[in-house]
Amino acid sequence: ARGLRKHFVTKRPLFGKPTIVRAVDGVDLSVRRGETFSIVGESGCGKSTLARLLIRLLDPSAGSVIYEGKDIAALPETEMRRLRRDLQFVFQDPFSSLNPRMTIGGLVEEPMRAHGIHDPKQRRAEVAKLLRRVGLRPEYADRYPHEFSGGQRQRIGIARALATGPKLLIGDEPVSALDVSVQAQVINLLEDLKQEFGLTLIVIAHDLAVVRHMSDRVGVMYLGELVEVGEAEDFFAAPLHPYSRALLAAIPAPDPARRHDGDRPTLTGDIPNPVAPPPGCRFHTRCPFADARCRTERPVLRPAGEGRAVACHHFETLEPAEGLPPPPAR
Ligand code: SF4
Ligand code: MG
Repeated sequence: ARGLRKHFVTKRPLFGKPTIVRAVDGVDLSVRRGETFSIVGESGCGKSTLARLLIRLLDPSAGSVIYEGKDIAALPETEMRRLRRDLQFVFQDPFSSLNPRMTIGGLVEEPMRAHGIHDPKQRRAEVAKLLRRVGLRPEYADRYPHEFSGGQRQRIGIARALATGPKLLIGDEPVSALDVSVQAQVINLLEDLKQEFGLTLIVIAHDLAVVRHMSDRVGVMYLGELVEVGEAEDFFAAPLHPYSRALLAAIPAPDPARRHDGDRPTLTGDIPNPVAPPPGCRFHTRCPFADARCRTERPVLRPAGEGRAVACHHFETLEPAEGLPPPPAR
């Protein structure tokens, strides 16, 4: 993504003027083939909008999205339709994202039909294979979504996303609607499928434990902007942006001896309204390190060591933050 923006004009004008919500406001981002890249941040920071822009479920207000050398934001719809085979989405809510009047078989078959598998026998065989692959019985093809649990429905959503043989899967909070006990199963399934099908994964999440478990790299969003990008291992060991530090400080440490959060910044106050983001650094209203420069000058993402970038005027001079201990082996 280069200079990616999405500004929504809300229906209800404020003071007689149309109100513009800057949901995504100038994001540059590269995702490598075969990696799991996670986008984190509080709700309302623009993660879901960014995810939709990346595979053109939404058209951007400005900027480009280059996929295999083509700007998909500028492709004519006919060409885009062909590319949609490659780029699939797993939705957050397995309860509302599946049409309740369609059978499971019909739901998984639908994208195949749209993408040119015309032989019904072949489609049925593919559906059975996919259901088995996501851990469901092929006989379930004749049943309806309401007959299944949340975890099973998310497996159905994943089977549907895989039906076109995609190369890139974007999951918007793919496990956050599920019981904790089921989350790990669905995460493991996604990781297995990634290996098996050579997928690239982009995961939108606010749960940092999930992100830490799954990700090769992480991007942190705040109010429509990317404020930190880096390898997951580096990020979790020593977050650099004050907002990242605050996010990580909010996770309880597994080792009680380390639970002295006094020297970690904690996140206070609400996320400001994206209709009128604060000037300068958008985080300055909540940042314990903010100074006069932060209130007027907008920081840009700049290199911060190998493979890392941070948008903060002062990250080099802040006391290094201790991150979290390495995660247990998978
Ligand atoms: Fe805080 Fe200033 Fe850095 Fe923004 S630029 S995160 S306000 S120190
Ligand atoms: Mg969201």
